[in-house]
Amino acid sequence: MVIVMEKHAAEEKIERVVAELSTRGFDVHRSTGTDQTVLGVVGHVDTIDTREFELFDGVQEVVRVSEPYKLTSRTWRKENTVIKVRGVEIGGETVVVMAGPCTIENEHQVFETARRVARSGARVLRGGAYKPRTSPYAFQGMGVDGLKILRAAGDEFNMATVSEVMEISQIEGMLPYVDILQVGARNMQNFNLLSALGQIRKPILLKRGMSATIQEWLLAAEYIMAGGNYEIILCERGIRTFETYTRNTFDISAIPVLNKLSHLPVIGDPSHAVGRRDKVMPLARAVIAAGGDGLLIEVHHDPEKAVCDGPQSLYPEQFTRLMDELKIIVPAVGRRI
Ligand code: PEP
Ligand code: MN
Repeated sequence: MVIVMEKHAAEEKIERVVAELSTRGFDVHRSTGTDQTVLGVVGHVDTIDTREFELFDGVQEVVRVSEPYKLTSRTWRKENTVIKVRGVEIGGETVVVMAGPCTIENEHQVFETARRVARSGARVLRGGAYKPRTSPYAFQGMGVDGLKILRAAGDEFNMATVSEVMEISQIEGMLPYVDILQVGARNMQNFNLLSALGQIRKPILLKRGMSATIQEWLLAAEYIMAGGNYEIILCERGIRTFETYTRNTFDISAIPVLNKLSHLPVIGDPSHAVGRRDKVMPLARAVIAAGGDGLLIEVHHDPEKAVCDGPQSLYPEQFTRLMDELKIIVPAVGRRI
């Protein structure tokens, strides 16, 4: 349920409504727009008679949200959520490109790749330190030692950092090094992890599960938001279908669908979607043309030698070419880069 306050309603009036709801045991989430506040009420709201709250001073209307997701919905927040991290704005007018290797391997690899992608215009450096590998015998990541390298490279080239968290016990140790915590496709419905991420105050990049519907994905984001962490970036990374030519099938339609349903920023990861570098660039262009707020792209300074996901990692020269192409596409869709 959401309670829409009148435009410019006085703070005391808002607080009176919040206090009444809290006394009755509901969780209240405030969304403050440019001239209007909307209160998201969660809990067993069926027991509320909406008329009671309609009569509170300063209340414009009380709306029952028909979708099962509430705080991720545009009903609660009309304006786009813009996430600010280390001088980078995600979800605003400027399209943000995140790039880097699949996994952190060593200092030379991270610094070389970071130097190249930063020079071409990437603003966020990616690199996994905890890797969800399909085989238990594959390289599992460098852990905190890897994160230290990622942070140092981020600082050197003035980039924010993003890295995947796989379990609750890793969160605290990641916080000093990572600006954005990524939840991978395999963990999109790890509800305990999502709830724990709701308790921190750093942005979360939430990838779509490989067989998740858009509604399930928004409900996963809702777990994080319900804890009070409202900074979530949704990332389409391809879903499993009957098609085997590409690693996954990129659901480009998810981007305009989410832009309508939710206020959260949406980015695309064409690397994991197609799984081969010759198809990454066309899909990356499509993400921006479809209204995406940014991209997550795997780039390796020497992809032939990559420990993980080499075949889908762009050569730095390809990444530079892609960024040049985006400079043409981005203004055509009314954005900046
Ligand atoms: C990754 O970004 O390296 C990754 C493992 O992605 P996904 O969870 O989308 O497979
Ligand atoms: Mn990867």
